[in-house]
Amino acid sequence: MDAPFSQQTRTANLQTLATQPFDLLVIGGGITGAGIARDAAMRGFRTALVEMADFGSGTSSRSSRLVHGGLRYLEHGHLKLVFEACRERRILLDIAPHLVWPRSFLFPVHRGGRLTPWKLEAGLWLYDLLALFRNVRLHRMLSKRALLRAEPGLRSRDLRGGARYYDAQCDDARLVLANIRDAHRHGAVVANYVKLDQLDSADGRVGGARVTDLTSGVPLHVRALVTVNATGPWSDKIREPDGRPSLLPTKGVHLVVPRQRLGNQEAIIFISPIDGRVMFVLPWGRVTYMGTTETELREEPESVAATADDVIYVLRSVNALFPDARLTPEDVLATWAGVRPLLRHGEHDDPNAVSREHAILESDNGLLSIAGGKLTTYRVMAAQMVDRVAARLHARDGRALAPRAPTDTEPLPGGEARDLDVMIEATIVEGFSREVATHLVHTFGGESAAVARLAQSDPRLAEPVIAGHSTIWAELLHTMRREMALTLTDLLIRRTHLFYAAPEEVLARLPDIVRFAAAELGWDAERQEAEADAYRYEVRRSLAFREEVDAAGR
Ligand SMILES: Cc1cc2nc3c(=O)[nH]c(=O)nc-3n(C[C@H](O)[C@H](O)[C@H](O)COP(=O)(O)OP(=O)(O)OC[C@H]3O[C@@H](n4cnc5c(N)ncnc54)[C@H](O)[C@@H]3O)c2cc1C
Repeated sequence: MDAPFSQQTRTANLQTLATQPFDLLVIGGGITGAGIARDAAMRGFRTALVEMADFGSGTSSRSSRLVHGGLRYLEHGHLKLVFEACRERRILLDIAPHLVWPRSFLFPVHRGGRLTPWKLEAGLWLYDLLALFRNVRLHRMLSKRALLRAEPGLRSRDLRGGARYYDAQCDDARLVLANIRDAHRHGAVVANYVKLDQLDSADGRVGGARVTDLTSGVPLHVRALVTVNATGPWSDKIREPDGRPSLLPTKGVHLVVPRQRLGNQEAIIFISPIDGRVMFVLPWGRVTYMGTTETELREEPESVAATADDVIYVLRSVNALFPDARLTPEDVLATWAGVRPLLRHGEHDDPNAVSREHAILESDNGLLSIAGGKLTTYRVMAAQMVDRVAARLHARDGRALAPRAPTDTEPLPGGEARDLDVMIEATIVEGFSREVATHLVHTFGGESAAVARLAQSDPRLAEPVIAGHSTIWAELLHTMRREMALTLTDLLIRRTHLFYAAPEEVLARLPDIVRFAAAELGWDAERQEAEADAYRYEVRRSLAFREEVDAAGR
């Protein structure tokens, strides 16, 4: 699929939002809202979606990037959630193989920890059982020697052995985008940088919303029969003053270090010796990211950032596992912090034990809100919400109840290409290096051919944006034309991940990148300056912990 989805598409969409009535208006373009819009549009509902920043810029681009059954939820007995998540893992590996890929995990067990090898083995059999033995592969228990052969940097002292099991890693931001674009393809009218100001509930029932296009400041009135609040960590703000808070939001932080500093080959799951929490070390190209934390949210969701305490905690935990690495705050290339929209059960919930289940809430004014959940289970959440919407519409005007949409079998954009290896070889034949070909296919799937064509139209577009990295200029152009990238941060943080992979180099190259984007998006000098400033602000936010560390002399 090579259809435009650009700044011009957005302008046309704003016009439609202001003039046409909708069956459904979705507020929030994270994975939850994107999944709901896709499902609703596939069922034939006239669907609109507005997102106040970029698609996925909330929690959905700040996760651990795992599509997983959730091994650790077994400890808390959440079997239904794990079963559902294992099924979703299989579906997502199938409908978006370029965005969700199998990942092997090593689980080392050290003496003195709360886990024993037999307890781990029992848990992994249950994990495989809940996947109906249809996971990528079955787990295998490993001796100490086998573990150290696989991952020589692991602490060998007190190591008793462990296991290798399988889950999936994903590109969270691009998974959101794929759902948004597929919603658009099925007729949904979507726009980023459009903020809900106020629900429109003139007669006591919500009939749409007053929103503002943040790029121009122009207010719009969107009329809709049903409105859904899918704003994740922000959802209580939109439900207020309707009832008790539904969420217990917590903050989670990840750190990025050069992969060679740890030398890890695989993903590793381990138990932090500091506080017994389950943590991950995850490979991502040339970098490794690690996390996460789970602490009380003290700031607004849009201002969360990693603090020195967060960074020190993660580094100490990982250093205990990889003692020779001796990671310090200086090694940290970038961080990201996100807010889990966890469902509140009682006043004294322990965030680590709180279930990742979700709930649909209905306010007196008819607003439907969805709270909780995980990236992995977004499709299930979306289907349940759209069932509610369909029932509402049926009760209202007697229309037939639309059957469930085939969101589990219809590929997401780019996902039609099942055999990625064949595509990589074909891209190499067209003159791309193996590294660039692999990168393009794993980023765009079947749509990588469109990026390759762009690159072939002008040799300058086939050059890497940053020397030594595989992201090429054609990708930036493609994402502005086909993926509604509107700002520099959209381009560098979520459409590509250069922000995390090469932060220093991007800063050095910023003037060229700004000029390149300006030529496509029509930015004047003032806007170019503002875009560069906004990007630098994100870099400062990502590395703000450094000043705190220096000040405390840690
Ligand atoms: C640290 C961390 C790690 C995680 N790891 C995983 C993982 O590995 N696997 C997994 O399955 N899950 C994981 N999760 C959970 C998962 O990321 C979230 O459950 C999911 O992303 C929530 O998506 P959402 O769409 O509900 O919220 P969000 O992604 O936050 O989307 C809500 C959107 O609403 C928009 N919005 C807010 N107010 C307005 C307004 N007034 N007008 C218009 N738009 C508005 C926001 O800008 C935002 O983009 C993790 C979460 C965290 C924090």
